[in-house]
Parts: sequence; structure tokens; C-alpha cells
Amino acid sequence: MGNRRKFFAKAMLGGAAVMSGRLPLGRRAGGPMVRRVGEPIVVSTWDFGRAANVGAWEVLRKGGRALDAVEQGVRIPEADPDIQTIGYGGLPDRDGHVTLDAAIMDDKLNCGSVMCIEYIMHPISVARLVMEKTPHIILVGEGALQFALANGFKKQDLLTPKSKHDYEEWLKSAHYQPEVNIENRLGGKYNHDTIGMLALDARGDLSGACTTSGLAYKMHGRVGDSPVIGAGLYVDNAVGAATATGVGEEVIRICGSHLIVELMRQGASPEAACKEAVERIVRRSPAKAAAIQVGFLALNKQGEYGAWCLQKGFSFAVKSEKEELLIAGKSNY
Ligand code: ASP
Repeated sequence: MGNRRKFFAKAMLGGAAVMSGRLPLGRRAGGPMVRRVGEPIVVSTWDFGRAANVGAWEVLRKGGRALDAVEQGVRIPEADPDIQTIGYGGLPDRDGHVTLDAAIMDDKLNCGSVMCIEYIMHPISVARLVMEKTPHIILVGEGALQFALANGFKKQDLLTPKSKHDYEEWLKSAHYQPEVNIENRLGGKYNHDTIGMLALDARGDLSGACTTSGLAYKMHGRVGDSPVIGAGLYVDNAVGAATATGVGEEVIRICGSHLIVELMRQGASPEAACKEAVERIVRRSPAKAAAIQVGFLALNKQGEYGAWCLQKGFSFAVKSEKEELLIAGKSNY
């Protein structure tokens, strides 16, 4: 992950996204070309989104469901021990526990999430089971773990030697302060970043997934925005989908992802909707906003995508038949 912030953007593979289909096309101000029904696309947060998108694309290119695509996609960073902000290898809380948050949402407002779950490498798949096999939406902590084990998930130690070492180093000062893009300054060490993934499938249906180990060295029991439906993730198949990364407390306050979907419903482009959500965080406390990172990513029903973040340093990955991009998010600061 040493080159996490070395942005690059491959040129669109094969030129402008003009595809066959039934709907008339047009270009909306501030956004990329509108897609036709039948042209899948997946977008996800940060540079680890590139590998995750490849996993999702395997599902989408065969005509699979967006729901399956986002689950398969985010399982890739969940299983990667080198990514210290998601799943296996995630940095622990201040008591040394690796606690994970994840949420998933489909095209019918079905959703599931797990909060503060331990010992399970793929919380996103547990969240999906909560959605599909229980009458509930959220399971937390020990109850989520018991549910996972009862459904065949294996209990695993998620604290890798590297994360254990970093935690022990942190314990020497035990100073907790979510910092902006800390990874830039510490050569590959970073204290937060979530994968949020949004996909549009060949049927024109949307789904999303979001999974994280949350803020490193957080208080035990702390839950961020990622598993909170409407904050870290929201999908309305009539309109679009949105996801978030960054300091979750600020995202929860404004119901960030739901806000963005509602703004898109009123006609905002994905980028404009994400920008307005960031502006709300700034308006509440400009001083606080200047010191933290929050990034939003959105995809609408037409396949237009856009993002906005507080600070430079946020990136998002895009994959479709014609595009494979890593894009630097536009920012306020
Ligand atoms: N949003 C995550 C949380 O607050 C962390 C991150 O994305 O950086 O738990």
C-alpha cells in the first residue's frame, strides 16, 4: 500500500461511453456521459477500490446482479492483510480488539448490517445474511458473531503481526486523534479508510456495500457511519446510491448517503450532491471540517458518478466495459 496516494487515471478504454440501448443519451453538466440500460458500472472508494472493482466486474460482466457484485468486490480488501483499515489486518481499537462494521443494500430497499463484529473476515457477507435470513436489519457485537458462527462462518484472529506491532507502538503514547490522510505523512500507515462500493448491473439495478475496521484505536464499542443505513451507505433504485468514507461521526450527523440520494432525486448530479453533503459538514463547524477527512461517492440510475471530499487525498475507482480509472476526488480544502 506504499503507493496508496499515487493517483493515476487510465484513459478511457476505447473512448467515449456510447453504448447500444433503448434510452436517449445526453451529457449532464458536471458529470460523465449518461449510460444506457444494459451498461454495467462499478465505483468504489480509495485506491484499493481498483482491485475490489475487478472482483465486482467478474460478476457484472457476466450479467450478474449488482448485489452479488458489490459483495464479491468488497470481500477482496476485506481479505487483504495489507489493508489496515478493512477486515483482516484492520487496526484494532484502543483495547486491542479488531472490530468490524459493514452494510449492504439492494435495489428493493432491503438492507443488512453488522456493527462491532469480531473474528469474522467477511462482515459484508454476514450483513447480507442478516438482510436475507433474518427479520432484522442490524446485528451487533456478540449477537452478530453468534449469528455468523451459526451460519458457517469461521472464527479467525484478524489481528495480523503488522497491525499488532503498530498497535503496540501506538500504545506508547496512546494519543488518539483521527487525522487527515495520515497515510500520506507516515509512509503507508493510516488510521482510517473504508471501502464503499456502488454498482449498476445490466438490468439497470443498483446495489451498494460498505465495510471497514473503522477508526484505528477507537474506543471499544465505537461504531462509525459505515454500517448505519443512510449514513455510510444508501441505495434507492429509482434514483441512485451513495457511500461515505472518513470520520464517521460527521457523516452520521447529516445522514450523508441518504442526503445525497435525496439531492439526486431533486435533480442534482452525483458530484453536486456529494459537494452539498460536504458543505453541510463545513457549515456546521468550519474549524472541525478543516481538520478531518470525509469523502462521498455517488452513482445515479443512469450510471453517472461523482464524488466530493473535504481534503485532497481521497480517490475513487471506476470500472466499466470502457473505463478503468482512479480519480482524485475534488475537495474543499
Ligand atoms: N467512515 C469510517 C468510520 O468512521 C472510517 C473511514 O472511512 O475512514 O468508521
